[in-house]
Amino acid sequence: MSNELTAASNFIRNIIDEDNRNGKWAERVETRFPPEPNGYLHVGHAKSICLNFGIARDYHGICHLRFDDTNPEKEETEYVDAIIETVKWLGFSYEQGDKEHLYFASDYFEKLYQCAELLIRNGRAYVDSQTAEEMRANRGSLTERGKDSPFRNRTVEENLDLFRRMRAGEFADGQHVLRAKIDMGSPNINMRDPAIYRIRHAHHHRTGDAWCIYPMYTYAHPLEDAIENITHSLCTLEFEDQRPFYDWVLEQLAEAGVFKRPMPQQIEFARLNLTYAITSKRKLRQLVSDGHVDGWDDPRMPTLVGLRRRGFTPESIQLFCERIGVAKNDSWIDMGVLEQALRDDLDPKAARSVAVLDPLKLIIDNYPEGQQEACQAPVHPHHPERGVRTFPLSRELWIEREDFQAEPVKGFFRLFPGNKVRLRYGYVVECTGFDQDADGNVTAVHCQYFADSKSGTPGADTYKVKGNIHWVSAPHALAAQVRLYDRLFSDPNPDAGEKNFLDALNPNAKRITQAFVEPGLTGTVAEDRVQFERHGYFVADRYDSQPGKLVFNRIVSLKDSWAAKPAKGK
Ligand code: ATP
Ligand code: MG
Repeated sequence: MSNELTAASNFIRNIIDEDNRNGKWAERVETRFPPEPNGYLHVGHAKSICLNFGIARDYHGICHLRFDDTNPEKEETEYVDAIIETVKWLGFSYEQGDKEHLYFASDYFEKLYQCAELLIRNGRAYVDSQTAEEMRANRGSLTERGKDSPFRNRTVEENLDLFRRMRAGEFADGQHVLRAKIDMGSPNINMRDPAIYRIRHAHHHRTGDAWCIYPMYTYAHPLEDAIENITHSLCTLEFEDQRPFYDWVLEQLAEAGVFKRPMPQQIEFARLNLTYAITSKRKLRQLVSDGHVDGWDDPRMPTLVGLRRRGFTPESIQLFCERIGVAKNDSWIDMGVLEQALRDDLDPKAARSVAVLDPLKLIIDNYPEGQQEACQAPVHPHHPERGVRTFPLSRELWIEREDFQAEPVKGFFRLFPGNKVRLRYGYVVECTGFDQDADGNVTAVHCQYFADSKSGTPGADTYKVKGNIHWVSAPHALAAQVRLYDRLFSDPNPDAGEKNFLDALNPNAKRITQAFVEPGLTGTVAEDRVQFERHGYFVADRYDSQPGKLVFNRIVSLKDSWAAKPAKGK
């Protein structure tokens, strides 16, 4: 890990440390993760979750899970439930003692409304009746100041009356908006009398039809933070220009005595951009609705439910977030970093096993029919204390089709007629021939074994062979469906510039094979993870895998086949 990353990961913690030294919050640290329940969480949200919950954990504070459900049209309970489950799965808790810090912005609608009336009474907000086009035209530009609305100087009484009638449902959508009265000449366009309430005759997933006016996000957010006594409100960089308005709203209400100072502090950090992935909810939704993937939790999706189903562990995602750190400048993180975090998490944990993904029959002609014997291999090569696994060897085995070549290419040192290889943890065999069908496809390979060459027996190492191939005993192996997943996109930046991300879909991101696996896997239950030697890390599918009907998903291969340059020192 470079120093740069380590240092960058600390800038928010530096602010908190400084606050603690000054006694600003009396060492209280209270953060929040505020998703809008309009879709499933993706890997970008994981960064925000790990940051907010991680800081709360490390400072003995608390992180709230708050649903920012101020936008009635697109939100659904289905997403609320999935988000709660995902945050818990990632290993975080919003419970403190017997208090659950789970909040919904919609629970504050009355309070937000009362604060808006207060702003009106204090001459800080007015009802504007310009059309949307007029408002846009009068906003000005980066070089030109905005023009005051002709409704800007309505009296407090008139504003209050109109705002109450907006609430009462007397007007159509868009007929009026409530705006903060700040400065149409501000160089920051966000401070040119931003809208704070709009009329929307829409059903809300929690408040039903109780409201037909809804607060704007930029107005609601600082108030939600203040209502919940948030100390540090961490958000992504695109909100930097909104910070003056965030502070303005809270300042007005602190002055009016609604909130006690100090007010929550907004701090921006760079969002996560991951190569070979997209993190726009709209585009993710399109992948699902157009059938390019099999749902939000398709193992190819960069959603957290997708990563879970693919086999990523919560620990690997936390490790990834630690490694990428938190900086103030936008940057791209390579998908390889996420995959490496998974390997690093699973390498010490996952038991080793054998799967033959593209089976070809190997017949040991000089091995007695009906006979079988046990072979042994470590459960984990670096953890002898985890013991050994035992599996049978017999006359007929399954080997990988790619481990045999009838006419070997140069440099091929596995099975071909006349060559010797070691059957991993078993005997040395010499290839004696092969069978073909009418089309010339190899249907079986024949060999002879050397009875004094068994791995682990005295003298076995006098056989010097270059190839070492994996196998399972045909009559004993378990059939399993194996889903070989790869990156969803074949372009590192599928939606950059003018590109259509659908053009970058990787047609080989899902391949299904009928494999044979080691008989010891018979007790595998959903979400068990294993390393199949040579092939990578696999998980028993959460939904489809059952004892007797195993289904494995490849999480990631052992090495990054996408890396531009091979990693040094393997
Ligand atoms: P939308 O795409 O619908 O605007 P969003 O990605 O902003 O949604 P929210 O549900 O509003 O999603 O996000 C919840 C929190 O997660 C916000 O604080 C947001 O800043 C953060 N977040 C979202 N995307 C990323 C990302 N790529 N990297 C880091 N944080 C993110
Ligand atoms: Mg958002």
